Amino acid sequence: MVYNVAMIKCICECGVEYITYPSRIIAGRGKYCSRRCSDKYTLIKKGQRLSARTEFVKGQMPHNYKGYKFTQARPQSGIYKQIYKPEHPFATKSGHVREHRLVMEEQLGRYLRSDEVIAHINMDTLDNRPENLRVMLKVDHDKMNTKLNVHRRWQKGV
Ligand SMILES: [Zn+2]
Repeated sequence: MVYNVAMIKCICECGVEYITYPSRIIAGRGKYCSRRCSDKYTLIKKGQRLSARTEFVKGQMPHNYKGYKFTQARPQSGIYKQIYKPEHPFATKSGHVREHRLVMEEQLGRYLRSDEVIAHINMDTLDNRPENLRVMLKVDHDKMNTKLNVHRRWQKGV
């Protein structure tokens, strides 16, 4: 085999002898006889476990997660801020609690019952200042919203 004197002989993982420049080895490249072997031995296969640092753990939050998220039950409904509080007894499956309930629970010094809802006095569901919140029973709150939303098709004539 004729090759440049600066080149060195190497043996690929597949057993084939090949030649490359030492500078490529120093640069961390030229470890395989061909592009095909390089793909075969270096590509990440489906289901392959990488290091603990790169592995995504179940229940782990995304890297840009700020400790809260916004939620909207229906397209026309209000947007609510949810705080991540997995130790809360009424937290959702994902471990979140609506912020206005947390604020009111802090004011009252107890957990809210499931039939108690928090009304936003100025109708802004993202304005969770304590003075904007009022505890109501769910039945009373539904009556109030029905009066305000008579234009809704399914609530017409109430
Ligand atoms: Zn090879």
